[in-house]
Amino acid sequence: MSEGMDCTFCKISQKKIDCDIIFEDNLTICFRDINPVAPVHLLMIPKVHIPSVFEIGRDNSAIISRIFENISKISSILCNRSCRIVNNNGIDALQTVKHLHFHILGGARLGWPPC
Ligand code: 5GP
Ligand code: ZN
Repeated sequence: MSEGMDCTFCKISQKKIDCDIIFEDNLTICFRDINPVAPVHLLMIPKVHIPSVFEIGRDNSAIISRIFENISKISSILCNRSCRIVNNNGIDALQTVKHLHFHILGGARLGWPPC
């Protein structure tokens, strides 16, 4: 899948936009959300441009394992093994950045349900 020319998260993964990166490997990058809604609010993304869950299939689904391996390590440390992982897709879910991303929310008792 080609990289999004105008994609903010592609620019972050290519270090063209500054942000607070807390973890990175060859396939993924994790950084602090610019507009946090919880004491810990991180975003975990694939470095490759994948617009949403609807573009995940047999050929690229291995990235999801890696993302969750890394979320497990990071959130066990930074969220004290208690967190919410959120993945918004499409208009009804209010996905604003069209590059697959997982919010990691923690550091406080969170509200539920979301609407
Ligand atoms: P969505 O609503 O698409 O699930 O969430 C996108 C998230 O990306 C939002 O929480 C927003 O604050 C965050 N975000 C958007 N642009 C930037 C940016 O340039 N840097 C960082 N660190 N976060 C961003
Ligand atoms: Zn992108």
